[in-house]
Amino acid sequence: MLYAQVVLPLAQPMYSFSLDESLAVEVGDAVVVQFGSSRFYTGIVWSISDVRPDYPRLKPILRKLYSHPILTPEGQRLWEWIADYYLATLGEVMRLALPSLAKPSATSLTELDERSIEPATEQFIALSEELQSEESLSAYRAKHERRAPRRVETVERIAALAVERKAEDGFVPRRLIGVEPQHLAALRTKGLIRIEERIRENLNSAEQNFLLPTLSQAQDVALSEIRKAHAEHKVALLHGVTGSGKTEIYIHLIAEHLSAGRSVMVLVPEIVITSQLIERLERIFEGRTTTYHSRLTPLRRGRTFLRLAASTGGELIVGVRSTIFLPMRRPGLIIVDEEHDMGYKQSDMQPRYNARDCAVVMSRLCDVQVVLGSATPSLESYMNAISGKYHYIELKERWGKGVLPEIIISDTIRALKRGERKTHFNLDLRDNINRSLTSGEQVILFQNRRGYAPYLQCRTCGYSPRCPHCNVTLTQHKASSRLECHYCGFTMERSLVCPNCETQDMATMGFGTEKVEEEVSRLFPEARVLRLDGDTSTSETAFQRIVSSFEQHEGDILVGTQIVSKGFDFEGVSTVGILNADNLLSTPDFRATERAFQLMMQVAGRAGRHNDRGRVVIQTSQPKHPVIQYVASADYHAMARTELAERKAFGYPPYSHLIRFQLHNSDYELLRYAAHTLASNLRAIFGQRVMGPVSSAIEMLRGEHRAEIILKIEAGASMKRARECITRALEATRKEPRAKKVPISVDVDI
Ligand code: ADP
Ligand code: ZN
Repeated sequence: MLYAQVVLPLAQPMYSFSLDESLAVEVGDAVVVQFGSSRFYTGIVWSISDVRPDYPRLKPILRKLYSHPILTPEGQRLWEWIADYYLATLGEVMRLALPSLAKPSATSLTELDERSIEPATEQFIALSEELQSEESLSAYRAKHERRAPRRVETVERIAALAVERKAEDGFVPRRLIGVEPQHLAALRTKGLIRIEERIRENLNSAEQNFLLPTLSQAQDVALSEIRKAHAEHKVALLHGVTGSGKTEIYIHLIAEHLSAGRSVMVLVPEIVITSQLIERLERIFEGRTTTYHSRLTPLRRGRTFLRLAASTGGELIVGVRSTIFLPMRRPGLIIVDEEHDMGYKQSDMQPRYNARDCAVVMSRLCDVQVVLGSATPSLESYMNAISGKYHYIELKERWGKGVLPEIIISDTIRALKRGERKTHFNLDLRDNINRSLTSGEQVILFQNRRGYAPYLQCRTCGYSPRCPHCNVTLTQHKASSRLECHYCGFTMERSLVCPNCETQDMATMGFGTEKVEEEVSRLFPEARVLRLDGDTSTSETAFQRIVSSFEQHEGDILVGTQIVSKGFDFEGVSTVGILNADNLLSTPDFRATERAFQLMMQVAGRAGRHNDRGRVVIQTSQPKHPVIQYVASADYHAMARTELAERKAFGYPPYSHLIRFQLHNSDYELLRYAAHTLASNLRAIFGQRVMGPVSSAIEMLRGEHRAEIILKIEAGASMKRARECITRALEATRKEPRAKKVPISVDVDI
């Protein structure tokens, strides 16, 4: 008899089960076990041993669920790292990592069987037995060439594909044939072809020739640098300005790995970018890409997962952060595009992992090449690059004749004084919009509304009050007349007189995209205006409709939130306007500077990608603000240097790790009590490193009050020790009879 440790999708440690050898279960297999009196779960076999665990009543593993293990050895190490680093249990990692339908649970075995799904299959097509020989094919052609040329063409394509793919039984995937289903159905009716459902398999494509773009010299150098990084077992950070052609470099790397039969993962931060990217990859790697994101149906996600588990390699998988959990056989390459994007961080469910960091960890766990790409790398990655931990590669120029756009800084306060401001539009911006519209070009207007927290700003000098301890802007809280720091809880009376220029002109700031849309339509009644934000793109189709109609120039002006900054390649755009950069500079976040720079550079990157030089108009009341100056000169390095110095002075990442504890409850008193209990338990160990509790940026959510505590662990200190201490403080708090009623969530590396 054998014994297995099994992870179940519960916030619990592992459990032991007895294991009958005849089940032929391996580590990484999904198995069915009974847990409690009437509950059947899918579990993952973590380890197998012949030593009986010291537990009197072991239940047996009931069955093995799939023919292949669904967790790879590297995947197993990754789960362990995530559980440890993000302070979660393996069960919580399992809950998140496996698609729901791949881990059925039920109240009886029959019910569980009914819920089980199969790996994704696809249609395979072969010519009928009669058409298998050369002679019969030529005879068929001779007879039908004139009357049914289309049919002959398809039949010959199938025959050619079967030879090309060395398909012994003549079956080839339908997706490679590329004709519509009705046409194939007609061929079947005529008895010319056979159709079967089979599990998709990829070519071991040593013999496959991909049609790759020719690289420029700069791109070529970058490519060999990336290869060099891999030889040195280092992560490569590809820092290339927008339009420098990072994607083309990726394509060459992808081709190398696929040709060697290895698998490739391309991660993107948002679903919205996947479609344009997939289109580009599909043009080269026809029929090979597998997509994965939350807008797929649960069935499709489950079946895709199982198919990849059974794959032998050579896969090209493209998707958002959760893609990192897909089984990757023969791992070769992981590309994390737009690596700076916060979309890689899971923020609303345990474990709160960052997929970019998981990819970096994967490079340590196996011989997988990891490339982080961005036009504006995160300071964390940049720091790793300058310290030599990553291999740093820079592309400073746009590809081909492309030049970076001209940046025009437009001072809103001056415009107001000179009477050059109409509603939210300075003359500079109106002029440039006009210029684009009259030459039949397009305009993108950006207004950040997401993550908008009301702040106070002087309308005369542009000053906004900041926390003296935390170097972030103070947030105006609705209910009170006070301003509050949402890191340390520092508060001060809201004053109507500006402490900087002493005029009485302080106002609460902020306006949204809808307003911009309305105003721009009034200013340019001729123009067709589209709006892209959370409200207009609630569904994938609504989103796609807006994007493609702008692409096809059915709109002249696109107004949007940060969605519009996300890597789109619109041909006709010559003017980009940032309505209110002050908004970005004033977010109450220690990363505000970095984010503001990234956002502005990314939005600016949408201008003039194909025509002559594009123009970017940035409206701000603080034209001298350092971030605005860095954007104006497109000087990432200057931004990074000064910002790193600030971070160091205030002990922020990458010079520390920030860990956030969040508590919520409908009973405000109880919440306060629990938060203070946890804070004092933490302070007993960590002292000054504990900040808060404070009320969260969003104080009330779904009728519950929310509070948070932030812990700052300096870089270089042992995170392992810190985690042990945190676990103790959490346990102590959860033992306290009142405090334990309040759930606490932990977020490492906010
Ligand atoms: P990035 O991802 O760095 O912003 P892209 O990869 O989108 O840049 O490239 C910008 C534009 O330049 C795209 O339209 C792309 O097709 C074109 N391009 C870049 N490199 C090449 C190349 N080597 N051959 C042909 N076109 C290229
Ligand atoms: Zn503060």
